[in-house]
Amino acid sequence: MALLVKKPKGTADVVPSKSYMWHTVEKIVSESAQQFGFKEIRVPTFEDTGLFVRSVGETTDVVQKEMYTVTAAGDSQFTLRPEGTAGVMRAMLENGVMNEGFPQKVYYILSCFRHENVQAGRLREFHQFGCEMVGSASPRADAEVIALAKSVLDRLGLQNIVLNINSIGCPECREKYRQALKEYFEPHRDELCRTCQERLDKNPMRLLDCKSAEDQAIAKDAPAILDYLCDDCKAHFEKLKQYLTQMGIGYSVNPRIVRGLDYYTRTVFEFITTEIGAQGTVCGGGRYDGLIEQLGGAKTPALGFGMGLERLLLVMQKQGCDFIEEKTCDLYIATMGENAVNKALSMTSALRDEGFFVEYDLVERGLKPQMKYADKIGAKFVIVLGDNEIESGSAKLKNMATGEQTDITLGEKLTEQFSQAMLNEMFSGFEDEVGGIIGKDE
Ligand code: ATP
Ligand code: MG
Repeated sequence: MALLVKKPKGTADVVPSKSYMWHTVEKIVSESAQQFGFKEIRVPTFEDTGLFVRSVGETTDVVQKEMYTVTAAGDSQFTLRPEGTAGVMRAMLENGVMNEGFPQKVYYILSCFRHENVQAGRLREFHQFGCEMVGSASPRADAEVIALAKSVLDRLGLQNIVLNINSIGCPECREKYRQALKEYFEPHRDELCRTCQERLDKNPMRLLDCKSAEDQAIAKDAPAILDYLCDDCKAHFEKLKQYLTQMGIGYSVNPRIVRGLDYYTRTVFEFITTEIGAQGTVCGGGRYDGLIEQLGGAKTPALGFGMGLERLLLVMQKQGCDFIEEKTCDLYIATMGENAVNKALSMTSALRDEGFFVEYDLVERGLKPQMKYADKIGAKFVIVLGDNEIESGSAKLKNMATGEQTDITLGEKLTEQFSQAMLNEMFSGFEDEVGGIIGKDE
């Protein structure tokens, strides 16, 4: 097949046979967030470019290299969101959500766009599940947000994911640290990659985030931010560690974590797996106490995290995690002739009104291909309708798993009879299970 147009590099299609995997993840992440009192927020796919430049930060990779910026005739400049937090904060401010009492807790599932070097787990359109909590400066909030992320990962069934935490301090302690970093890296200036040479002048903390192996080797002995924290930031970090321990959440302190976006303050954290290669960060987050003010709101502490859904799915598949199976067809009505089709239509409507999953022949095929189709879609029951059945007003209901056939009348009582057959079917599975367990005990 010579397809004329293919999908853009770094994007992915979800084919119908795989969508149940996404549904599983979306269901688990939203239910977990709701259980922690977070409510869903939805925001536009594109925002004013200025929003991201202001919030994500001018010296970040995202703003410097990765944004998809679009202009339409006569319009201003827009950017496809590279992350969720900025737009969500903008929306909360614009809609007065911040005036409704603290803490405000929101979650979202959305697509993000970054012009990146495409690799496994690194796409140009990817999806994030994110949570944000606004209005608490307390380390309890940090612990709670991390606990939510951990709970999500556990419920997805993921194993061997480690939590790394760090504090990058407040603007005050950070200034001293920046100075120390500059002094440390300056003698190595010529050995650094070109981007890092620029970072050295503009934002030396970004050097610690560089993915190049040579730069990482140089950064190995760089001063650690934790030695530069002011008393308040230190106390905040100590409390967080205490709360995490209290909640039974294991962590390692990793002073190399600075996170890729500029707006973070104090706590930063990542959940990392080594099982899907280099792109092992499945969740990244932290506190951003300055962001809301930077966007024109009142000074308000806040924090959150983002999880890459594609990366979560990669690990889940690798680790053989369970996915929630999609519902399958309860009843397929095979038809022979126009009278049967008419009957099938009214039966289908009545059964669907009762909540059953019903299909019938839409392609005008013979009985054999219809039965094959019913088998392929995993229909639990099949009824074959022909002129004889219409005339006699009764048909055979075939249980596809057991091959068992029962008589069913086609009149008004049809849905009742079918409900009973479905119940029997469910109950027979249950009986087997109970029987099995009793058998074992004896
Ligand atoms: P990385 O260091 O891997 O580039 P990041 O610091 O840029 O990650 P964040 O901006 O914190 O990532 O985004 C949160 C999460 O979104 C990441 O932890 C990751 O799981 C996921 N993510 C980020 N970029 C991509 C991408 N290009 N493709 C797929 N998932 C991504
Ligand atoms: Mg990145």
